Amino acid sequence: MAGVVRQEQTFQQGLEALNPAADDFIPQVVSLILRSARAARASDVHLMPQPSALVMQWRIDGVLQTIAAFDRDLAPRIIARLKVISGLLTYRTDLPQEGRVAREYSEEEVRVTTFPSLYGEKAAIRLFAESDSLQRLSQLGLQAEIEARLSLELNATAGVILLTGPSGSGKTTTAYACLRDILSVSRGTRCLMTLEDPIEVAIDGVTQSQVRPAAGFDLTTGVRSLMRQDPDVILVGEIRDPATAEATFQAALTGHLVITTFHAGSSVEAVARLQEMQLEPYLIRSALKLVVCQRLLRRCCPACGSSAGFEKTAELPDKQRPVSPPSTSCSTCGSSGYFGRLVLAEMLDPDIPEIARALLKQTDSRDLGSLAESCGMKTLRQVAADAVSGGLTSHAEVLRVLGSGAFT
Ligand SMILES: [Zn+2]
Repeated sequence: MAGVVRQEQTFQQGLEALNPAADDFIPQVVSLILRSARAARASDVHLMPQPSALVMQWRIDGVLQTIAAFDRDLAPRIIARLKVISGLLTYRTDLPQEGRVAREYSEEEVRVTTFPSLYGEKAAIRLFAESDSLQRLSQLGLQAEIEARLSLELNATAGVILLTGPSGSGKTTTAYACLRDILSVSRGTRCLMTLEDPIEVAIDGVTQSQVRPAAGFDLTTGVRSLMRQDPDVILVGEIRDPATAEATFQAALTGHLVITTFHAGSSVEAVARLQEMQLEPYLIRSALKLVVCQRLLRRCCPACGSSAGFEKTAELPDKQRPVSPPSTSCSTCGSSGYFGRLVLAEMLDPDIPEIARALLKQTDSRDLGSLAESCGMKTLRQVAADAVSGGLTSHAEVLRVLGSGAFT
């Protein structure tokens, strides 16, 4: 891909400008990695030890790209330097570790995790964008109808708002935006508390807690203890098991607004998974306020996307057609044809009487899906098809994110 070559070259030039004989060569290399990954809008950096090299990859707009390969003998030194600036134990190379880069080395939030592997420690660096830490609901780019409804439900004094999607779909960003909106509207009149694993972004005005399962402080016991802290709004990082689901839904019935995320491919699938977790139908029906399911798709580059041969036709073929790369180099998107991301979401409304009845009857997901559509729910597939015909993203990108069934 043309975009990869460009970022690779930029990084290589920066590396060649450093003096390998200098005392601070390795610190300079690590600083260059952090600086240039951020400049390229990467969200993650992977440093993978291989037999002959330390391979560096960046995740940009959700897609991993190989950027550089360092000499094998530099690998332990680069990883050791990362560990030093993140406060990790350099002499422990046999255990996974996680830490944050100290403020003196990075103004922005950077989290580092190391993991022992066959050829040495692998490091993964998560770069949090400054904008992520300020985003409100209105800045996420959700469809207007969904944003308005979410916004309205944030005033509720009880119930569960379920934000779903696969990992990397931006649901945590949406959850944090909800908390910021509540804070701003309530002006200190509501007590907000979170249980997270891990805490991804610190929000002033919210009491955030990181669970410690090894110490017996897990999400389930945490939710129960939290009730005695008199909170109004609770963010439960993610429901992963039946016990947490039960505790979360019970909390929502006793005068707490609960915002939580849940791993599911669609809003209907989310309901099916709650049913599989043996939650009583009445509990789901009475507590559930709203289910939103979302995805992040790469947005066509505004500078070159229109001239790059990206498909914008509403008549979409069944088979995947390759996206033509831009013919000329584009400095906006690094010639990848994409710049930034687009949130696509669907919303299941449990207050629609037909849906409410179906929830009580434990209607299976296929029937619930058809019912929701007949009640006017616009599915992710439909929203994605609209985004392609509107030129916001490409057919290939929709297939990458939603899978081969996206246009059938
Ligand atoms: Zn471009």
